[in-house]
Formats: sequence, structure tokens, C-alpha cells
Amino acid sequence: MRPSILDPLFQEISTLAGVGPRLFGRLKALAGPLVIDVLFHLPTHVNQRPVYTHSTVVEPGTFGTVSMVIEAHHPSRNRRQPYRITGTGQVGAVELVFFHAHAAYLTQKYPVGRTVWVSGRLEKRGGVLQIRHPDFIADRSEEIPLHEAVYPLIAGVGNRFVSHVIAQALTRIPDLPEWLDAAFLKQQGWPNWQTALKKGHAPLTADDTSPYRAARLRLAYDELLANQLALLLVRQRNKKEVGISLPSTGRLLEAFKLSLPFRLTGAQQRVSAEISADLSSSEKMTRLLQGDVGSGKTVVAVLALLQAVENRYQGAFMAPTDILARQHFQGISRLLEGLPVRLALLTGRDKGKKRSELLKALALGEIDILIGTHALLTEEVHFAHLGLVVIDEQHKFGVHQRLTLAQKQKGVNLLVMTATPIPRTLALTAYGDMDVSRLDEKPANRQPIETRVLSMTKIPELMEKIRQLTQEQGSRTQVYWICPLVETSEKSDLTAVKHRFEALQKIFHERVGLVHGKMKGEEKDAVMAAFSAGQLDVLVATTVIEVGVDVPTASVMVIEHAERFGLAGLHQLRGRVGRGSTRSSCLLLHGPHLSQTAQARLNIMRETDDGFVIAEEDLKLRGAGEILGARQSGLPVFHLASEDVASRLLWTATKDAQVILALDPDLISERGRALRILLYLFRKDREVNTLKAG
Ligand code: ADP
Ligand code: MG
Repeated sequence: MRPSILDPLFQEISTLAGVGPRLFGRLKALAGPLVIDVLFHLPTHVNQRPVYTHSTVVEPGTFGTVSMVIEAHHPSRNRRQPYRITGTGQVGAVELVFFHAHAAYLTQKYPVGRTVWVSGRLEKRGGVLQIRHPDFIADRSEEIPLHEAVYPLIAGVGNRFVSHVIAQALTRIPDLPEWLDAAFLKQQGWPNWQTALKKGHAPLTADDTSPYRAARLRLAYDELLANQLALLLVRQRNKKEVGISLPSTGRLLEAFKLSLPFRLTGAQQRVSAEISADLSSSEKMTRLLQGDVGSGKTVVAVLALLQAVENRYQGAFMAPTDILARQHFQGISRLLEGLPVRLALLTGRDKGKKRSELLKALALGEIDILIGTHALLTEEVHFAHLGLVVIDEQHKFGVHQRLTLAQKQKGVNLLVMTATPIPRTLALTAYGDMDVSRLDEKPANRQPIETRVLSMTKIPELMEKIRQLTQEQGSRTQVYWICPLVETSEKSDLTAVKHRFEALQKIFHERVGLVHGKMKGEEKDAVMAAFSAGQLDVLVATTVIEVGVDVPTASVMVIEHAERFGLAGLHQLRGRVGRGSTRSSCLLLHGPHLSQTAQARLNIMRETDDGFVIAEEDLKLRGAGEILGARQSGLPVFHLASEDVASRLLWTATKDAQVILALDPDLISERGRALRILLYLFRKDREVNTLKAG
């Protein structure tokens, strides 16, 4: 199905000259495994290498090219001394300096009397122009680039090598038909795709490496257009697919609503009505529920699940971690007490007889709602008649998983939920294939959370305060104490967490617990359960508690090294408190070296509690190019469409994609075929095709 004209672009870079296994590994880590990946690895700077013919104009410290007639070799007398070659050229005396040189090679390659052109960083020492380790030595000046693209690098791979690989990759660009509208291209002043890539790799001035340069904007636009097209195609496919219709009968829902200990918020009612209508219709539902932490998404999910059960269909509820699946199982069991609904929990930890019996019951339709991790949708789990899948905290699952899931369960309705606030401007790149509902109101009984920013030097006083708070007569205050655990410095961070735990043990003795990602599941559960049951005053944790955990009596959140967390992460963590009726506080502790941006970010946390506002502010603070990790946010990672560029171009790209598909829904016209190429180029079509095949 892939047009063969593109094959050279989709080969591994190991098919290029000079790329052996070791360098392939390094390049793969740097840019990606395929030829097309290195083509999108664009330079960030330019080295100018003017050719100098007069010594007076040479500016020391800059790059340049000069000629010289070699006059003498000065081998090093010991290992600390460099090997030197001296001579004279148009700029006067020139000296080349080599440390740890291969003396025999240099002597042979550059004999006395030969004229060479030499390029590198130029320094003046006395009256002599000096170049240490020249970048180029050539017979003719034309062999040395006047403008040299400087690429982002990785250890073990030099700029020359990357340029060399990319130069080869550029020769593989096929002649492709234009997929953008001619008038639009002209109006924007953008080059065609091939030229855009070539220009991208051949910057002449620093300006040319700016993401706002025509060539780069065009490539960024292509990425966004491909993304929007792919999502629209998925959406179109989903709509065409007949879904299982699950009209509400009221058999369970009425009783459930009456049994709730609270009134649904207006937003919960509105969103539930949207979902209920989707479920009733014979079109398959693919809906995203966005709601800030604590906005009450779980109840909305349970309402939807009950509507499936009313129709004698089964529901699946997936959570991203074992801890959360367990918590949801307990919470939902409580909510459904007294109703004739059979609930079960399945995680990777259930093994042996218990597991096989559960799976049997599920296949026989003896379980109505199954709660678990994504293990729920593995091969050996068979539902008798699955009608609805709910995915909680969807950002932990990628777009791919979402699509595989839709394909595996044909016609099954899908509700995905997320608390990750994605700026409105970018939500489309992640969720363009879904209908979106927003829970934009929090239950009325919520107390505002007081947020303070403190230096970590205040920890001893803070501990004493917490001791007083928790040991007060009749107090039910519980405290989360979060330490960062960053993958890159895992070991030292883990030590820091343990130290903090030990320090707190001296004060709180057996009433402090520790959970971290390196612990066994059962151990974590036991500690979490003890905290939930109020047997612990303080829970020291790494970010394993980030999503979903619900302990209403916890009212203090301490976050160490808050400057190391993203705003979205901090917001999630803070959402763990303020869930009950007690006044809650969040203390953001920062280390000694706080940058201005970090300070500004912490201030935003102090000033607002609205996840969507936080997301927008975060976007403003982070410059272009600093991409929100895909894993964290659910946003796709683009090569060129940085957040800033995306927020400028996305709207047009979306409209464009809509118009294209309205005119040519199956992309069969000439232009449609070109657009398929675009989808291939950005490897978005694979996702579309998974669905088609399914
Ligand atoms: P999230 O959207 O973060 O998943 P949850 O569903 O866990 O939020 O709800 C947070 C808490 O609010 C839970 O303890 C839940 O029982 C409670 N809750 C949900 N809806 C309401 C409501 N309408 N009024 C009062 N409390 C509610
Ligand atoms: Mg939740």
C-alpha cells in the first residue's frame, strides 16, 4: 500500500554510507532509525566560515578559512606538548596546533612547500594566526563550506558526520506532487516540500534556523496537517462504524442516583446527558471527558457503566496503575452497594486459580463491570458482551493504545477521561478524533487549598508544625510528603526519599509510611491502605501517587523540589488534598538555585487552582521548542511544530483538513494521493490503517 517512491525514505539509516552498527545506535538515539528521521533533524545554528585574504580583517575567536604554504613541522617533545605546523599565507604567519597528534600521518600528509586551505576557530597569538585542530584542511577553498549547519549532537557523533549522513539522506528525497493548495502556498510564501527540507539543512544565516522561517513553517504545517487529517480519518471511520446501542431503561440508574450521598453538579448532569445520548444512539461513542482533579469524573463513569449494565452488556473500567485500579474497585463497590451489579477486579497481580475462575465468569457474562489496569484488554481476557470501555487518566495511554483498543473491541463504546489540562489551542492535536465533554465545575463543598512557596531550608520548622497539627487532640489531619524521583538520577533521588523517610520516622515513629516506584505492588498497597485507614499521619511518596488517589482526610501536601516538577504534575499532586471538608494546604518547597522561570511557575501555582488556566500559563512561560513530554501530557511530539508554532498554525491546518475530507472523504483524487504521502511521511497513516484493517 505504501507508494514505492517513498521506500528510500523509510529505510534504516544503516543503509547510508559510513553508518556502521555503533554509529547507527548513536544516530538512532539522536534522531531516529530511519532516513526520514534524520531528514527532520534540522540544524540549530550556523557557523560562518569566511575566506580571509588580509590579516587585518580576521576577528579572533570566530571561524574562518585561510591559506598557507607549509614551512615547518614541530613534533611534540612530550605528551603534554602539541604537534605544530607553521607556514605563511595571505594573512601572514599561520600556526596549526594538534594535541595528541598522529605525528607520522601529519608529516606525510602535509609536506613542506605544499599550499593548503585551513579552516577552524581563528586565534591570534603574538603576530601569529593560530588554529587548533582545524575542522577542514583542503587543497582548494571551494571544498570548505562557507556556511556550516550546526546540528544538535549526542556523545560519540560529531557535526561533520551528521552533516555527511544528512547530505546522503537529502539525495533520497523523491519528487513528490504538491499537496498544499497552490494559492495558499503563494500567499504564505512557502517553498515546496523538497525545497523546504533542503533549505532547512542549508541555513546561510542565524535567521535561517529560526522556526519562523518560511521553510520550517511549511514543514511544521505539514506535520500539523498530517496530524489533523489522521485524526479526522479515524473519527470518520468511527462514525461510520455501527456501535452497540445502549438506551437507558432507568432500571439501575434511578436507584443509583437516589443512593448517592451528594447531588450531582450541573456539569456532571450535563456531561452525563451527553454520554447517555451517545450510548443510546447506534453510532459508536468515542468521547473524551476532560475534568480537573476532583471534579468528580468517577461518578460520571459509573453512570455510563450502569447504562451498559441496564442493557445486560458488560463494562470495563481501566486505570493506569494497580493502586488506582484497586482504589477504584473499592470506591465503586461502595457506590454500588445494594444494587444488583456484579463487580470484579483484575490486575496483573491476580494469578493462578483466582484469575482463571474470574476469567471464566467474565466469559460467561457473570460479571457486569470489570475494573483493572490495561491488562484488561490482553488476549486471554474475553468478555461475553462488552458494551462500554472507560479509560481513566487517558494521558497515560498513548494514541496508539487508544486506537488498538477501538479496533479490538468493534462497535464498543469508548469513554476516555483525563485530568491533564491541555491548552485549548493544542487539545486538537491530541484529541481531534474524539468528541469532547468538559467537567468545568467542582462540587460545591470544596474548600480552597492554600498554597505556599517555601525554601527547603525551612524543612525542620515545617516538620515541627506538622507534628503539632497531626498530634493535636481530635485531629484527623494527614499529610502527603512528596519527593521527586527523576528517571535520570533515580539512584540518588531514591536515597533522598529514604533519608527523608528516616528523618520523619524520628518524629512520627510508626505513624509514617513510605511508597516509591521500586517497591513491590503488594507492599505499596499495604502502605496506601494503612494511610487510607488513618493508621498513618504522614505518607512519604514519590510521584506514584500522582493520579487519582483519593484520601479525603489528607489535607496537607508537601512537595520537595517543586521546581523540578512540571506545572501539570504539580497541579495533579495538589489535587490529592482538598477532597474532604477540612481546610487544606499545599507547600511547595524549592531548592537553593531557583531560576526566574521556575519562580514564575511556582507563583502561578500559588495564584490559581484552575487546571486550564495553569496549562495556558505554562504554555506562555515555556518558550517555543520546549516541548511538553508526550508521555506526560498526551500531546503528540512533532519534529517542527513546537507548541508556539502549533498554536499559530493549528487552526488553519484543522480547517484545511476538514475541507479536504469534505471534498474527498477517501482521498482518492490526485491531491488526495499526495496527502496520503504526507500521512506516510509523518507516519500517521499507520494509525489510520490499523483501524481500517480492523
Ligand atoms: P476526579 O475527577 O479527580 O477523578 P473523583 O471522581 O475521584 O474526581 O471525585 C473526587 C471526590 O469528590 C470523590 O470523593 C467523590 O466521591 C466526590 N464527589 C464527586 N461528585 C461529587 C458531588 N457532586 N458532590 C460532592 N462530592 C462529589
Ligand atoms: Mg479520578
